[in-house]
Amino acid sequence: MAVLPILRWPDKRLTTVCSANIADVAALAADMLDTMYAAQGRGLAAPQIGSLTRLFVMDATWKAGTPAPQVFVNPEILWRSAETAVGPEGCLSLPEITLDISRATSVKLRWQDVQMAVHEQTFTGFAAICIQHEYDHLNGVLTLDHLDPAARTTAEKALL
Ligand code: ZN
Repeated sequence: MAVLPILRWPDKRLTTVCSANIADVAALAADMLDTMYAAQGRGLAAPQIGSLTRLFVMDATWKAGTPAPQVFVNPEILWRSAETAVGPEGCLSLPEITLDISRATSVKLRWQDVQMAVHEQTFTGFAAICIQHEYDHLNGVLTLDHLDPAARTTAEKALL
């Protein structure tokens, strides 16, 4: 169990498409949960700690007093609702800024747990938004990449 350093934009590892996990990931997942809680986050993707693999962790409810750590290995978004909503998103790799991003309000996800068993579930609310944000990280996509050019320039100025 360890709290790891979190990479910050513009580290190139944050814009790299990650590879599938095929081996035991329990230790990595445990370290990522420790790191996420220590950073006061509700989601953390493997590339944010320099592991270019398809894994993210989430706890959508711990800040409300009901911890529910979840680990998603090799996740795949199978379906996104047509309904979308715009809301503010922070990112532990872009700690200086919060950006308004449009996301589907529900998603259906297939993933493996740390024993590599397969699960499928539909998520709504904050969990759906968090999943889309972390899933983006596995494809090298940051909140910045959702902005139009003018808004991106403004955001980058705030970061540099
Ligand atoms: Zn992020």
